Order: sequence, then structure tokens, then C-alpha cells
Amino acid sequence: METRQIIVTGGAGFVGSHLCERLLREGHEVLALDNFATGSPKNVAHLLKDTRFKLEVHDVIWPFTVAASRIYNLACPASPPHYQRDPVQTTLTSVMGVLNGLLLARRQGARFLQASTSEVYGDPEVHPQPEDYRGAVNPVGVRACYDEGKRCAESLTMDFHRVHAVEVRLARIFNTYGPRMAFDDGRVVSNFIIQALRGEDLTIYGDGSQTRSFCYVDDLVDGLVRLMEHPEERGPVNLGNPGEFTVLQLAEEVLSLTGSGSRIVNKPLPEDDPKQRKPVIEHAKRVLGFSPRVPLREGLARTIADFRARLEGTPRKNSA
Ligand code: NAD
Ligand code: UDP
Repeated sequence: METRQIIVTGGAGFVGSHLCERLLREGHEVLALDNFATGSPKNVAHLLKDTRFKLEVHDVIWPFTVAASRIYNLACPASPPHYQRDPVQTTLTSVMGVLNGLLLARRQGARFLQASTSEVYGDPEVHPQPEDYRGAVNPVGVRACYDEGKRCAESLTMDFHRVHAVEVRLARIFNTYGPRMAFDDGRVVSNFIIQALRGEDLTIYGDGSQTRSFCYVDDLVDGLVRLMEHPEERGPVNLGNPGEFTVLQLAEEVLSLTGSGSRIVNKPLPEDDPKQRKPVIEHAKRVLGFSPRVPLREGLARTIADFRARLEGTPRKNSA
């Protein structure tokens, strides 16, 4: 690949900051575009010392023109409380953001990767979920701004390939966790860790029997880079760790690893909350050589160490 710069929209977010780090480590020039809706410059502050890294404030619902050989389109709030806070902006971010990224890719002859999501499967009736499952999304529910926004982003991505011959990649990302998740983002892993470390009750929504498959962020980033650099695979490709856990099991694991005396309490289940989720990753394994390596317990331990250090205000290497 030529050495023209790589664009990461949403580069100051949780996944984006880890991706920027990885790309810089590989010797690339990286430009992160972010409007800081849910991310923060703190997430990439440690990268700014590197002259190959640039951070620009930009809202991707508006067009952008920059030199690019690769565009990773990650800009979009990802946690349900964040994406439901301003649902119209969430849809605009997904739809206009992908359109502007694809227009740039077409002008620049750049390769474009869209960060899609397991949410395109909605509350799935097929378990686990392979890529050819078409999903069960409630198009008028409170999660639709995200789910349908991402589904439209997928169709735009494939249409730009069919109509304009843009080289595209579609990654369907399953629940990912790790250091630098925002304290306030309301996702289950960050909520439980913060609650356990602060000695507050762990809030299980519903009875805790719903399942998720949690992927450590380094494994996901590895999958994204493998997909982007594959010479021909366009996807969609599921990226995630197929280890499946109930939310109650996750709470117990966090309590055990933190040694916290917090109690578990039950709260109402949010509307349209998917009951189960687990990726089929055979395609990613076979075609990309993708293989998640970090088991939940180890990934949680690393994440807890990061949260603990941030809560105590201790400066950490490579973390905000
Ligand atoms: P995040 O909220 O930490 O990061 C999203 C980033 O996008 C933030 O820095 C935010 O400020 C930025 N952003 C939001 N709207 C923007 C806009 N209009 N213009 C410019 N920047 C904007 O979330 P994340 O977990 O890092 O997710 C990154 C991407 O991966 C998202 O597209 C998300 O949908 C996708 N994804 C994540 C997960 C997960 O479990 N983390 C799962 C599936 C898909
Ligand atoms: N959840 C929970 N307690 C929390 C936050 C979330 O029990 O404090 C549940 C949530 O209802 C869902 C699961 O954990 O069933 C995963 O939620 P998250 O928001 O992390 O991701 P998503 O629902 O988008 O997969």
C-alpha cells in the first residue's frame, strides 16, 4: 500500500483510538476526524506527540476533503444511551457520514471500511448469527436510529461498490470492550466495572439471562485491519468473540475480578433489548485468518486495571 494517509472517522472514540494506535505502530500516517460527541481528545492525547498523527474536529454529516488511501468509518455513538440521546443525529451520522466517506473514497480512489454492527441482526431469531441472516429489527423502535442507520450505511456502501466501483469493506462488529471505554457510556461492561469499583450496586436489566459475546478491543482491531488489507474480501464479515455469556455471568465475573462487595440489583429491561447474541465467525477465520485471542476473564482484568487507574487519576501509559 502507498504511504498516503489513513483516515479514521471517530478516531477519538474507544475503538477508533485503539485503531489509530495500531496503524501508527505499523508506520502509517493517520488522520482522526471526530466531533467529540462521545469520544474525547484525551483518548488520543498520547498519540499527538507522533508527527504522523493528526486530529481534526469534524462532524461527518458534512462533506470533507482530505488526502486518503484508506478510510475507516467509525464515527457514530455506539452505546444505547448515547445513540438514543439524539436519535436524529445518530441516523444522520450513520447515513450522511457513510455517504460523505464514500464520496471521498470515490474521489481519492481510496479503500473504504464501514464499521457496521451486530445490531443489523436486531433481536435475532437465528442463533448464533451468520452473515447471511437478514435480521429482525424493529424499524420504529427506540434502537432503530442506530440499527436502521447502520443497515442503510451497509446498503450505501455496497451500492457505491456496485455503481461507482469503490473498493469497500463491511465489518459487522459484535460487543467490544476494553481500556478507554467512556465511564458514562452506559454499556454493560463499563457500567459493571465502574459500579464494582465504586462499591455501588451492579444494575442488571431484566433477569440477566440475556446473552452477549464480548470481544476484547485488540482482537477487534486486528480483525478490522485484516479485513481492510485483504485484497478482495468485501464482506459483510462478522467480527467478534463467539464466547457467549449471560449478563448475570458477566456481573459475577466482574465482582470476582474486582473483589468488590457490591450487590447485584435488577432494573427494568430496556425496550427491544436483544435476548441473545453470538457471532458465527467461520468466514472471518477462513478468509481473514481472524482469531480472537483474549479470553473474557483476561480482557476484563486489563479493562478493570485501566478503569481503576483512571478512577484514581494515576497517569497511565497509552491510556487517557
Ligand atoms: P464511541 O462512542 O467510543 O466512538 C465513536 C466516535 O465517533 C466518538 O469519538 C464520537 O465522538 C465520534 N462521532 C460520533 N458522531 C460523530 C459525527 N457525527 N462526526 C464525527 N465524529 C462522530 O464508540 P465505539 O465503541 O468506539 O464505536 C466505534 C464504531 O464501532 C461505531 O461506528 C460503532 O457503531 C461501531 N461498533 C462498536 C461496537 C462496540 O461494541 N464498541 C459494536 C458494534 C459496532
Ligand atoms: N445491561 C445491563 N446493565 C447495565 C447495562 C446494560 O444489564 O448496566 C444489559 C443490556 O440490557 C443488554 C446487555 O446488558 O441486555 C448489553 O448491553 P449494552 O448496552 O452493553 O450493549 P447492547 O445492548 O447494545 O448489546
